[in-house]
Amino acid sequence: MASDETGSGTSANRKVGRRVVTLGAMLAGAASVGRRMEVFAEEGAPHWTYEGEEGPEFWGDLAPDFATCTVGKEQSPIDLIDAVKGDEPDMTIAQQITAGGTLVNNGHTLQVNLPEGNTLAIGDAVYELVQFHFHTPSEHEVDGVRYPIELHLVHKTEDGKLAVLGVLMKEGEENAALAEVFTDIPEAGAERLLANPIDIPALVPSDQTAYRYPGSLTTPPCAEGVTWTVFEMPMTLSPAQLQAFRAIYPLNARPVQPLNEREVEEA
Ligand SMILES: [Zn+2]
Repeated sequence: MASDETGSGTSANRKVGRRVVTLGAMLAGAASVGRRMEVFAEEGAPHWTYEGEEGPEFWGDLAPDFATCTVGKEQSPIDLIDAVKGDEPDMTIAQQITAGGTLVNNGHTLQVNLPEGNTLAIGDAVYELVQFHFHTPSEHEVDGVRYPIELHLVHKTEDGKLAVLGVLMKEGEENAALAEVFTDIPEAGAERLLANPIDIPALVPSDQTAYRYPGSLTTPPCAEGVTWTVFEMPMTLSPAQLQAFRAIYPLNARPVQPLNEREVEEA
């Protein structure tokens, strides 16, 4: 995956090549078009992966709705460097131990869907925590370095605006709040109700100094307008917890994207 990030020029050239091939295939015969429609019909959305011909470099070509993955200028993740002091609005995290979570293995990650009860306020915007999930290795880099895993806590306002809290995680002590999540993992496409409440406050670090920047979803359709807050302080997972996740998803991280005109601010 490292070669993906050698430069936007290389990446753009490859995309152009791919687009020509795709057009050629569509003009040449119905076979590939038929296959694509089958995939749509089966899953309701185009298939995408983290490697190979449906991997991150090609997401933007897989469906019209995915074009932002290629043409977007405010994409995530990024390398978090040169954070500047801005006047970021205050952030207030209000979380509680939450029962009724559902563990979903959605084919791209392990995700816990949550009932209401945990909010994130950034300035005047109030977001509700709707789900959290994992990527390995971490999607965000800190000065070029990736962590073993990254937790994303996805929040949404009533009118659909997104804010994600990113927590970088390294190997160390077990994270007790995640004990049930990494045991008895459902098959891909399946889900199960968690037996125990989850200690949501234990999922974010005690020191909430963070990087803040405007970005996107890190999976197709790569929609922009997402407020990212990635904590500087990493947390830990036990080697067994990390192993349990990697046994299912050895690689599910999008490479870092160009910063373009954005600034990373200290929040
Ligand atoms: Zn994510």
